[in-house]
Amino acid sequence: MPQDKQSQLDQIAADIRDKNVCPDLAKTATNLVMGDGNLNADIVFIGEAPGKNEDLQGLPFIGAAGKFLNEMLAAAGMDRSDVYITNIVKYRPPENRDPLPDEKAAFWPYLLKQLQVIDPKVVITLGRHSMEYFLPGMKIGEVHGEPKRIEFGDHKIVIMPLFHPAAALYNGSLRQTLIDDFLKVPKVIETMGKDG
Ligand code: URA
Repeated sequence: MPQDKQSQLDQIAADIRDKNVCPDLAKTATNLVMGDGNLNADIVFIGEAPGKNEDLQGLPFIGAAGKFLNEMLAAAGMDRSDVYITNIVKYRPPENRDPLPDEKAAFWPYLLKQLQVIDPKVVITLGRHSMEYFLPGMKIGEVHGEPKRIEFGDHKIVIMPLFHPAAALYNGSLRQTLIDDFLKVPKVIETMGKDG
């Protein structure tokens, strides 16, 4: 019998620990922050890496950026319990520094496994760190808010790159751009989602 989604995600977390992925980050982190939300969601959001609050509580996007994300979800008629939220790097980098290329590369295969389990219609990347693996060579300032169909081996997915809520939080024009892009999400799911 195939395992249920939660058991499969638990197995991915166990593999990250067993294979000692990013041992330096693991040493300083309190928690491995795998993700949170609806395992049958149509949308998966992928941020950068846990911050202080996320590390302490073991949940993604619960600080200021998370509050802004919740507000935009509500404005687009959604709730956190409708979506699944994770990060490319699953341990907090010390002092919230940017994740290093090696760290992103080390977590990338596990992120792909997570996506295979949840199997969403649309993947929304938040910021350039999660975007660059799905849309290599593209610039977020040029492609934000534009959904793209891409292929991974035998997997086809729709990627919608958005600015990171933390970057947009205190920047008036970026903030409005992110909100405008966000409001397009329900339509993207309707028109570009797998069966749409
Ligand atoms: N920023 C991120 O990219 N991820 C989090 O989980 C929190 C803040």
